[in-house]
Amino acid sequence: MAGVMLGTKLCTNKIVLERYMSLPQPKDKVQCMYVWIDGTGENLRAKTRTLDFVPKDPKELPIWNFDGSSTGQAVGENSDVMIHPVALYQDPVRGNNNRLVLCETYAHDGKVHPTNLRHGCVQVMEKAKSFKPWFAFEQEYTLMDIDDQPFGWPKNGFPGPQGPYYTSVGANKAYGRDVVEAHYKACLRAGINIFGTNAEGMPSQWEFQIGPSEGITASDDLWMARFLIHRIAEDFGIAVTLEPKLKKDWSGAGGHVNFSTVQMRQPGGLAVIKEAVEKLSKRHQTHLKFYDPKGGADNLRRLTCMHETSSFYEFTHGVAHRNASVRIPRQVNEDGCGYLEDRRPTANCDPYAVTEMLVRTTCLNETD
Ligand code: ADP
Ligand code: MN
Ligand code: MN
Ligand code: MN
Ligand code: MN
Repeated sequence: MAGVMLGTKLCTNKIVLERYMSLPQPKDKVQCMYVWIDGTGENLRAKTRTLDFVPKDPKELPIWNFDGSSTGQAVGENSDVMIHPVALYQDPVRGNNNRLVLCETYAHDGKVHPTNLRHGCVQVMEKAKSFKPWFAFEQEYTLMDIDDQPFGWPKNGFPGPQGPYYTSVGANKAYGRDVVEAHYKACLRAGINIFGTNAEGMPSQWEFQIGPSEGITASDDLWMARFLIHRIAEDFGIAVTLEPKLKKDWSGAGGHVNFSTVQMRQPGGLAVIKEAVEKLSKRHQTHLKFYDPKGGADNLRRLTCMHETSSFYEFTHGVAHRNASVRIPRQVNEDGCGYLEDRRPTANCDPYAVTEMLVRTTCLNETD
């Protein structure tokens, strides 16, 4: 038989695959999968090459290139886009000494590619180094069947209304947990600082948290964790979407960013958190331009004040307030120090853009 049925999808036979995946790998050969962000600013691409040493630092890896005319990053006549390795991870899919390699993109003339938002973020993080900024991301996502409907939803209609699904357990409430569990273990093996996971408000919607980590690291980890959720779900015949508003009248998908500086984390830090909130309140629309990959258009659909979202038009904040733009967690208010939660970024946001804006406004005191 050419394939096996996985749900309604024709798949290759994973037992046959295992015969080859378990072949011993020559000790001096390392498969390096280069991963980069494409022209959409939200989708990832990857390709692999063999190296004959185990890299310890991304700088030891060769710069490579790809056909940018196929990724929305160049025109056909001049299509080479360069990829520069910037972060290394264990490859939990291929195992052994194999590596995943996060890359930045550069144009053929050596200039930073316009879709490469990491480069500018690194510079801003460098400027704000003394603040020791920590970031933690809450990545919401939805598992999808290949017919483009959420995984496990009835084919003609909707599941029962929201309520029982958030942090749920049980086959009638938690859809597709195998993917979540596999991804959690894979992230730990890869060396990603994953904090946890939970089931979300809509059936087939889940969340994982990355961080807190300092500076650029949290964002690098988030991008590689995103790569892995797509890659691992693929093995189960499931697709993943970070679409911020999949279904009207159902919860959208956010990418809450939890943020602190060393001053916020120390005793008396609550005053510094409140100052930061004040600065953020004066730059609401500027931030929204960077909080989704479409300059605010995605958030216009998502930030409806419904389903625990705030207003697109007006900045709000509050302690334990889940309909606010920025929330100060209850515990932080009681401890008198900690962090703030910016609830505005979408699930498909570029964390480099979001964290750069947070630092520009609250640490570097930039105003419009
Ligand atoms: P929510 O209640 O909004 O669902 P989560 O538990 O999903 O919150 O996420 C909160 C995140 O905040 C966690 O990933 C946690 O690691 C992170 N966090 C905790 N302390 C700090 C801090 N001082 N700075 C930044 N992030 C932090
Ligand atoms: Mn070719
Ligand atoms: Mn959460
Ligand atoms: Mn959530
Ligand atoms: Mn949150």
